[in-house]
Amino acid sequence: MSKEIVLAADLGGTNLRMAAVSRAGEILFRNGCETPRTGSPHAIVDAIVQSAKECKDSCSDHEIRVLAVSVPGTVKNGSVVTTPNLPMLDGFAFAAEIEKSFGIETVLENDANAAAVGENWLGAAKDFGNSVCLTLGTGIGGGVVLGGTILRGTNGAAGELGHVCVEANGAQCGCGSRGCIEQYASASAIVRMANELKEKFPDSVLHSNATAAEVFSAAKCGDALAGEVFREMGTYLGIAITDLINIFDPEAIVICGGASEGWELFAPHMHATIKQRAFGGAERPPIMRGTLGDNAGILGTARVAFDRLDSLSR
Ligand SMILES: [Zn+2]
Repeated sequence: MSKEIVLAADLGGTNLRMAAVSRAGEILFRNGCETPRTGSPHAIVDAIVQSAKECKDSCSDHEIRVLAVSVPGTVKNGSVVTTPNLPMLDGFAFAAEIEKSFGIETVLENDANAAAVGENWLGAAKDFGNSVCLTLGTGIGGGVVLGGTILRGTNGAAGELGHVCVEANGAQCGCGSRGCIEQYASASAIVRMANELKEKFPDSVLHSNATAAEVFSAAKCGDALAGEVFREMGTYLGIAITDLINIFDPEAIVICGGASEGWELFAPHMHATIKQRAFGGAERPPIMRGTLGDNAGILGTARVAFDRLDSLSR
């Protein structure tokens, strides 16, 4: 039925965004609000239902049977397992509660998985069945699409690529481990590395606690400290990506998220490292920047909703 659309919600620690999306991936209506942080999961359910009603009213000539919600954490069987930025949702039967209030089938997805699905459906990896996506934001999220299907793992925790280890005794990571790629190639890593290198580069224009954007600007102007930060970022990304190539043998690797803005500064070092380390003889996949920007997550979430819709119709 061509008039069938889905609702896709992108729930972040700060904002809740929602869109009504057609089967072609066209966004027909969108809205957003701040994520309620009252400590109650029910306030978040209410906000989602309110946004969903608004979307539904604005698209009243379409049929809506599925709502998908992406969450910044791990999800399994319609429940949130753990979400560090919205701890009130931990262990909460989120999908069932939304269904109870809004009355339509609801599915959950991890936000980085959603971005990977989005880029695989309509973005940089749209011509490939097998792709791996890294989202370089404040932290690093990841998603692995194999044969057109997102890899979820036993506990919904597959594709946590930000915690691939690139330095055995490296920087402490929020996950409890050390030396995760998140500590070397995220926006917060750029800030940390710039601070730590400061002493070695007394002539740098960067002050203490420069933001990632300031380090980026300084690097573009030739600042040696800032350049070194992006060299390290690229080298460590290259180590992590070599491992991903060796494990998944994907057709494409997509890099998106705010910190991928520094692409021209880190990519040469990333490519050089992969060339040096990649398993002999294996063909190396193209490594591309994402093309959907901020919409990757919401479009991927919509695709997850369409997949559920199709499984209901079978
Ligand atoms: Zn970690």
